[in-house]
This record gives sequence, structure tokens and C-alpha cells, in this order.
Amino acid sequence: MTDIQKEIIRLKEEKNALVLAHFYQTIDIQEVADFVGDSFELAKIAQRTEKPIIVLCGVRFMAESAKILNPDKIVLLPASDAGCLMADMITPEDVIKMKEEHPKAAVMCYVNSTAETKTYCDICCTSSSAVKIAKSLEEDEIIFVPDRNLGAYVAEQVPEKKFYFYRGFCPIHNVVRAEEVEKARKLHPGAPVIVHPECNKEVRDTADFIGSTSAIIKYVEESVKKEFIIGTEIGVVERINKIVEGKTAYLLSHHLSCVNMKKTKITDVLNALQNMEEVIELDEDVMNKARVTLERMVSVN
Ligand code: SF4
Repeated sequence: MTDIQKEIIRLKEEKNALVLAHFYQTIDIQEVADFVGDSFELAKIAQRTEKPIIVLCGVRFMAESAKILNPDKIVLLPASDAGCLMADMITPEDVIKMKEEHPKAAVMCYVNSTAETKTYCDICCTSSSAVKIAKSLEEDEIIFVPDRNLGAYVAEQVPEKKFYFYRGFCPIHNVVRAEEVEKARKLHPGAPVIVHPECNKEVRDTADFIGSTSAIIKYVEESVKKEFIIGTEIGVVERINKIVEGKTAYLLSHHLSCVNMKKTKITDVLNALQNMEEVIELDEDVMNKARVTLERMVSVN
């Protein structure tokens, strides 16, 4: 462990802070975190913690979700400029327009969205909970925002409902092509291809397994295979290669590195704890409305 990591651990204890890291964070950050998980797991931990300070190592919408679920706590985002390109693709006006076009539909919102966008939706979901949540809704029609790829994947699993998609996507996952899957299979014969549902349909259709980041790691842990081709952000590949003994994960495409997720450096985590910044502040009305959508999501699971 480096001196910076040791100091972060000391400060965590001194300040009674909880450090949460998304799987897409670099390994040195994952090593100092109290919990590493996907966005759904991080939201659940954030909801349950009794610690007064939460340091969210990820992107802005994750820190916003932690704040919404813990309005009385201090939530810190170590890298202020760590946004999410998908979350920024949709505005509340876009949601309002879709609701006007499909008044009978429930609005399901991927957590990868801003707090303000969430306030115009009925329920949130993560990639690990989306299918279950879509099935749980009373409505037969669902407006799914903002990720058209995850939305299409959910619609395939829930054919009894009618879906309307927004045009958003994750630029990191969406850019991967089926030819890259073919190439990776030739390079690593016999290795199953496991992809995230944010990948586009041509990639999903070639995969052996589709799942959230947590589901991908679980699949690798439980499989009898030794090698895997992973179609999600490189942080997951690094985590598998670090924590799953005797197995090797290969990155499906060199495109799979999220610039925003990598904006947080270990020194930013130290700075966040030393100087208590950036403190996430949200309008109370926005928090109250967005909380309903997040709490509904957690309660379905
Ligand atoms: S990987 Fe895609 S969806 Fe996830 S934070 Fe980066 S841009 Fe957003």
C-alpha cells in the first residue's frame, strides 16, 4: 500500500467517512474503498450507512444519488468534472415531451441520469434491476430513458409490454462492434464473451452472457472456464484479474475505457477527505422528487 493510500485510510477513520467506489474506478482507488460495487449496490449501501460522510468515487450522478438518499449527510465527489456522457444526453424537457406523446406509459429512468431528469420519472433502475422493475410495473407501456441499448435489452426480456425509447446511449459501450467480438474469439478460442447491456444489439446478439458489472463478475467466479472476453469498462477486467484467482479476463475492445470514470485519481480521494470537497448540494425539491424514484427502485429489490 502506498503512503497516499495509507493516509486515505487514516483519514477515513478519523472523519468517520465511508468510501464507495464503482467497479470502473482504478484498482488503487478500489483498494482503499470500504465497498466496491455497481451503481445499484452503491445506492443500497449509501441508503443504509450510518456514517456522516460518504465519498463517492465514480461519476456525478452516483454522488447525486447518494445525496438524494442521504440528504442529511455530507456526500463528496472527489473529481468535480467527472460527469456521465449518457446522463447529459437527456433533459427534463425531453422526458416531458415523451410523456405527452405516451400519456399511459410509466417512465422508467436508468440511474445514469441527472437528479433533475429523475424528478420527471416514475421509477429508477440500474442495469442489474431493470428487467425486474419493468416486470413489476402495473402499466403495460413503458417509456425508457435515457439508454436506448439497455432499454432494448429490457424490452427483449419483457415482451409482454410496449416500450418507447429515448435516443441516449453510452458512447463507451455503444461504439463496440460485432467484428471486434469475432476478432477476440479468434484470439482467445473457447473464452466466453460476456457483455454489458449498454452494448448495442449487434454485440449483445453475439454474446454468451449479458449482465450488469456485478453479474459479469459473478459469472466469471462461478464459471468452470478459465478465460473470459469482457465487454464492459476496463475497470471490471482489472478487478476480475485481481480478485478472481486462476482466471483471466481480456478486454473485448480498446474503446472500453470511460474517460469520466478515470478522472478520479487517488490524490483526488485524498484531497476530498482532507479538504471536504466537492460537497454535493442539490435543491431540496429536486431531492424529494428524485428520492421517490430511487426508493421505489430499491423497494422492488
Ligand atoms: S461508462 Fe458510459 S454510462 Fe458509464 S459513466 Fe462512463 S459514459 Fe456514463
